[in-house]
Amino acid sequence: MINIAVPQIGHEEFEAVRKVLESGILAQGPRVEEFENNFADYIGTKHAVAVNSGTAALHIALLASGIGPGDEVITTSFSFIASANAALFCGAKPVFVDINDKTCNIDPHLIEHKITPRTKAVIVVHLYGQPCDMDEIIKICKKHKLVLVEDACQAHGAEYKGHKVGSFGIGCFSFYPTKNMTTSEGGMLTTGDEEVARQARMLRQHGQSQRYIHDILGYNFRMTDIEAAIGICQLKKLDEANGRRIKNAELLTREISKIKGLVPPFVKPNMKHVFHQYTVKVTGGFKLSRDVLQQKLSKSNIGNAVHYPSPIHKQPLYVKLGYKDSLPVSEALAREVLSLPVHPMLSQEDLNEIVRTLKDA
Ligand SMILES: *Cc1c(COP(=O)(O)O)cnc(C)c1O
Repeated sequence: MINIAVPQIGHEEFEAVRKVLESGILAQGPRVEEFENNFADYIGTKHAVAVNSGTAALHIALLASGIGPGDEVITTSFSFIASANAALFCGAKPVFVDINDKTCNIDPHLIEHKITPRTKAVIVVHLYGQPCDMDEIIKICKKHKLVLVEDACQAHGAEYKGHKVGSFGIGCFSFYPTKNMTTSEGGMLTTGDEEVARQARMLRQHGQSQRYIHDILGYNFRMTDIEAAIGICQLKKLDEANGRRIKNAELLTREISKIKGLVPPFVKPNMKHVFHQYTVKVTGGFKLSRDVLQQKLSKSNIGNAVHYPSPIHKQPLYVKLGYKDSLPVSEALAREVLSLPVHPMLSQEDLNEIVRTLKDA
């Protein structure tokens, strides 16, 4: 079986976890602080705040920015549901903007049409590991005084014009096992803003400013030292692992471009796309439908997935909330996309097997 994702857990992670267990300090301790410092250095931001999931990072990014009931938050519908739910958690309203059909990322030209006096923030999603068009997005956020949140849960180490994503706005990362680096469960918020960092630290720990002094309503979003110890090891391997993803993607693209009706991922110039997912489009020109190709791959023991089969505005929750948007690009891509294995543990033989199966399909 060629899996769609395989976490790279080595001897270092086992050793680091053993040391934490022996130390007796298991949560929000010295390993968490070390991981935060290393992560902030890596992304190039002043502050990093560790939490227990990417979802928690998105949630407190909005709360720390003062987003609340009555506010509108612009984001995309073609993402994992957590990006939009973060707004709902705060009592705010997610407002969806359609995506570019090549990159699958937010189309900056459509953002201003959705801005109202209630708009307070934009959450951009660097989908599949490719950075969004940050110059255009930053310009719009500055002009309309909007908070910029980056959902970088799929884009650890991705770069836009030489700068890491997560350093442009408030960065939110996930360390779920399928991501480019993992801590099992876990997340991180990155920011250059001292006050946002201070608020985020309080929010993750029951609103505490000092021990047992609770200034605001907060949560328990703490990371454990066990998770942080794994994260410290994983961060050291991230660039090399991303390098292997990029090489695997190049090989797949070289071969897949020769297959009629399959469109390999589009990589914009000036970007470092870190291929959290390698997602092709199965167009009408291919001999099989997307769903039949998917079944064929599964039968041949080649892991695959559709990211995502339903845009967020079409999810039962959002239909119940009254969403009736028409987002033609998001809706069309939900029917065409198919993710193939690209992870760093793939062998040359695995890659050949994937290509062969696609060619013979
Ligand atoms: C994984 C992911 C999240 C959520 O991260 P968790 O750690 O699972 O909470 C949010 N947004 C995107 C785009 C993701 O891929």
